[in-house]
Amino acid sequence: MEFFDFHHHKKNIRYGIYNVNIGEIPSDSLYSIGIHPKDIDVNHIEEQLKLVRNTVSQNCFAIGECGLDSLVMINQKIQEDVFLKQIQIANEIKKPIIIHCVRKFYEVISFTKKAEQAMIIHGFNKKQKIAEDLLAHNFYLSFGKAVLYNLSLQHVLRNIPSDKFFLETDNEDFDIEELYQKVSEIKGISLEQVNEQILENLHTIKNG
Ligand SMILES: [Zn+2]
Repeated sequence: MEFFDFHHHKKNIRYGIYNVNIGEIPSDSLYSIGIHPKDIDVNHIEEQLKLVRNTVSQNCFAIGECGLDSLVMINQKIQEDVFLKQIQIANEIKKPIIIHCVRKFYEVISFTKKAEQAMIIHGFNKKQKIAEDLLAHNFYLSFGKAVLYNLSLQHVLRNIPSDKFFLETDNEDFDIEELYQKVSEIKGISLEQVNEQILENLHTIKNG
């Protein structure tokens, strides 16, 4: 069985969504393209956005990762502008948005009124309350390696509706099958069912 990796940075993984760095040429597998808050070049924002727009081709599954990060040095207002512009690109090309968010969940929620496509918070590792608030605003959550050992996160996963989550390796080095296995235990469903559910969820966000 093959296990879809929703967000990763490794060229050797063929089954999943490879996050293309800004300026990089995408390969022939599925990818996402966006400006990570830490990669915003304040003197060349328009060029960067144009590059994102021009890198969108048939294999582009989503815009991202993009979003808000309170720990990077880029001014928050600039981060919000660049995030909004990427939401607008996603609206225009009708593709989902993969979101990077560090301690800015309620600001990210405020952008839902601008977005016409599915929004997925990647690398979610926060508490139940934040998960509930995000779900109430129609976000999807993608979970990574932390699920293997973080009990509070396992609790979040147990409670999340099955049609609202994805699984990813991001830049961690481990086999995604381990994560699928863990989720099958946590949710009390078979590995095949986890796999089918993820594929169904992909289908849903792809079609808006
Ligand atoms: Zn990432």
